[in-house]
Amino acid sequence: MISIEEAISIVLEQAPRLGRERVKLEAALGRILAEDVHADMDLPPFDRAQMDGYAVRVADLDVVPARLRLVGESAAGRGWHQELKAGEAVRIMTGAPVPVGADAVVPLEQTHERGDEVEIATRVAPGQNVVPRAAEARRGTRLLEAGTKITAAAVATLAAFGHAMFDVGRAPRVAIMVTGSELVPVESRPERDQIRDANGPMLGCYAALAGAQVSRLPLMGDDREKIAQRMADLSRTHDLLVISGGVSVGKYDLTKEALRSLGARVFFERVRLRPGKPTVFARLNEALVFGLPGNPVSAAVTFNLFVRTALLAMQGARNPQLPEAYAQLGANVRGARGRASFVPARLQTDENGRLIAQPLRWGGSSDFVSFARAEAMIFVPEDVELEANSAVRILWLP
Ligand code: AMP
Ligand code: MG
Repeated sequence: MISIEEAISIVLEQAPRLGRERVKLEAALGRILAEDVHADMDLPPFDRAQMDGYAVRVADLDVVPARLRLVGESAAGRGWHQELKAGEAVRIMTGAPVPVGADAVVPLEQTHERGDEVEIATRVAPGQNVVPRAAEARRGTRLLEAGTKITAAAVATLAAFGHAMFDVGRAPRVAIMVTGSELVPVESRPERDQIRDANGPMLGCYAALAGAQVSRLPLMGDDREKIAQRMADLSRTHDLLVISGGVSVGKYDLTKEALRSLGARVFFERVRLRPGKPTVFARLNEALVFGLPGNPVSAAVTFNLFVRTALLAMQGARNPQLPEAYAQLGANVRGARGRASFVPARLQTDENGRLIAQPLRWGGSSDFVSFARAEAMIFVPEDVELEANSAVRILWLP
């Protein structure tokens, strides 16, 4: 049995870097940038008013209240493009260009407009309520680095600087195969001894969140021939196969047998991890293959530790692993003998601003109903008991 760290480093070693592809901005969410992205213009492109009010020359406000002559209006998208002279003011709106000669904006609340004059009640400092040209980005600066995951906020940056199309890591083609003769699809009513498939839909979602292009296969039961045949076919058309279930030692656990019969190269098949010990990692033809334990919590934990890491590395992500943090443990937690554990947790803060990881009360690796409430996993090293209030490492769940 190997450690989690060893397993992750094997996965990273074996994960091939896929090429790149060009995508449109609207299809880029969750993908990994394959190029650095630069600013094609200054932002703001002019000295921009930060408030509704009046553009003024600060020197005119040595004595307040002051009366200034109203000479024009500068609105967002339709500025006033003359030079402001001594004793003059221009009505101005948020987002509008500050005229040449003006050096501050007085907020509307501190003014009173009367005919062609405006009375200013308070002084302002030079530059107040003005965002200078290029303060947010100067033309040519790098905005986002290759290897960055594209979030909704990154989409705003890409849009603002004219990046309608750009290169991202090619989306891994992922096939999700679900074994288990007890399983029926979500649309079905389970009959005697049956349950509905939870893993297929869940793993499809996790894979999509990791930027993959997902094919979900029909349920396969525990049919040796069918499992082997599908694996062989899918390994020629996909970059990565995820097989749910059938990796333990039961009579109908056929995933490993099928892999061996096809001559797959198996890198590991047992990890010192709870839940998720029987996780299998192999290569069949050009495809990476992950066999995940069928208990939905085990499948979720092992997907996020190993499969997600592979998928993001394949796309060139700078940080392919789950984001980490430290938190204060909310209750005593007992580790497992000879295996590191991940315990699902909810996160809270206390009145001192400390992050608290509250272990979920749960019924073990089959209890995915409580796992749905988890926001993070607490790392518990092997053979230890962690005390409430001690500092623990957590991994944020996607
Ligand atoms: P296995 O890893 O195939 O031995 O399955 C372990 C446990 O997880 C058994 O109780 C299965 O019924 C359950 N299980 C396996 N696959 C799924 C699935 N796709 N959805 C829900 N439960 C599952
Ligand atoms: Mg099974």
